[in-house]
Amino acid sequence: GKGLAVFTSGGDSQGMNAAVRSVVRMGIYLGCKVYFIREGYQGMVDGGDNIEEANWSSVSSIIHKGGTIIGSARCMDFIKREGRLKAAYNLVTRGITNLVVIGGDGSLTGANLFRQEWSSLLDELLANNKITKDQREKYKFLHIAGMVGSIDNDFCGTDMTIGTDSALHRIIEAIDAIVSTAYSHQRTFIMEVMGRHCGYLALVTALASEADFVFIPESPPNLDWREKLCSKLEQERKSGQRLNIIIVAEGAIDREGKPITAELVKNVVVENLQQDTRITVLGHVQRGGSPSAFDRILGCRMGAEAVMALMEATPDTEPCVVSLDGNQAVRLPLMECVRRTKAVAQAMADKNWDLAVQLRGRS
Ligand code: ATP
Repeated sequence: GKGLAVFTSGGDSQGMNAAVRSVVRMGIYLGCKVYFIREGYQGMVDGGDNIEEANWSSVSSIIHKGGTIIGSARCMDFIKREGRLKAAYNLVTRGITNLVVIGGDGSLTGANLFRQEWSSLLDELLANNKITKDQREKYKFLHIAGMVGSIDNDFCGTDMTIGTDSALHRIIEAIDAIVSTAYSHQRTFIMEVMGRHCGYLALVTALASEADFVFIPESPPNLDWREKLCSKLEQERKSGQRLNIIIVAEGAIDREGKPITAELVKNVVVENLQQDTRITVLGHVQRGGSPSAFDRILGCRMGAEAVMALMEATPDTEPCVVSLDGNQAVRLPLMECVRRTKAVAQAMADKNWDLAVQLRGRS
């Protein structure tokens, strides 16, 4: 059977295990020899026990677990050709020429580069007598399929990334808990949620929790936001509301690009309205806990589609990223999606927020 390996790279997210499980089982079902690569690219570079053959039962009882059971890492070695050469050696000597990468845009970019270099890496290994001519010939094509695991939902091309829905559940649970105590004491709560460049979590949370105000990086408020915030909070209290909820995305800024932090918002509320105001920073809680049903199913579907894409690949097939389009798992050109995702980051850095939002939308 064909050699296929799956690994998780970059920040973890809930639902990655469902994706790993699906890749392993679909791979075995289609007759592949399937491997786990532990600790992302680091395991690929280091080889040894990090690359282990998987069987049907090695992915039992993982679908409900958060994070990734095969580990994830950031890897400096893989940024250098020398590291990628070691990685190529570790794959070729195990007969692995199909890779499923579950990670963010950095991980997908690395995989694409690896594929582009594959031929020359094998030539170098052959020249150094690390592999045989037969191996050079037999394993000359590397195929890549990607999936995006990220709670931020910050990747262009997919409606949802694996982990976003679970993170939303976590945040909403926390807000519901806080609302009850805020009600008792007539408090104002400021919740900081993750999202450095992408306000998706903050925006959706605000809608789902009846928040009074939300700050997101893509829609920086004018400098009079302080007055607007205070008058809105005051108005809500006057109309009988016993509490206020304000959601702040980690990367929230004003129109001048200055950060709007939870602390800053708190000071504004306390100084102007003298409300009893507390901050809750959810932090990594958002990435933890068990994956939602949606993320489990998303991981399953994307994993199966990724394996099918690899099995159907011909030497000219470009790497794909499996995405969710409506309720369909579809294959999109990996690098085009990465380029768009990077263009969004650039537009944000350039303070061209309208362009960022436009680029992030469907095309
Ligand atoms: P997230 O940002 O959501 O955590 P990510 O995949 O974007 O996920 P990165 O830290 O950017 O996270 O990348 C993960 C790993 O992928 C890096 O540590 C590195 O090993 C590899 N990688 C990233 N970019 C490249 C690149 N240009 N060339 C080679 N390898 C890369």
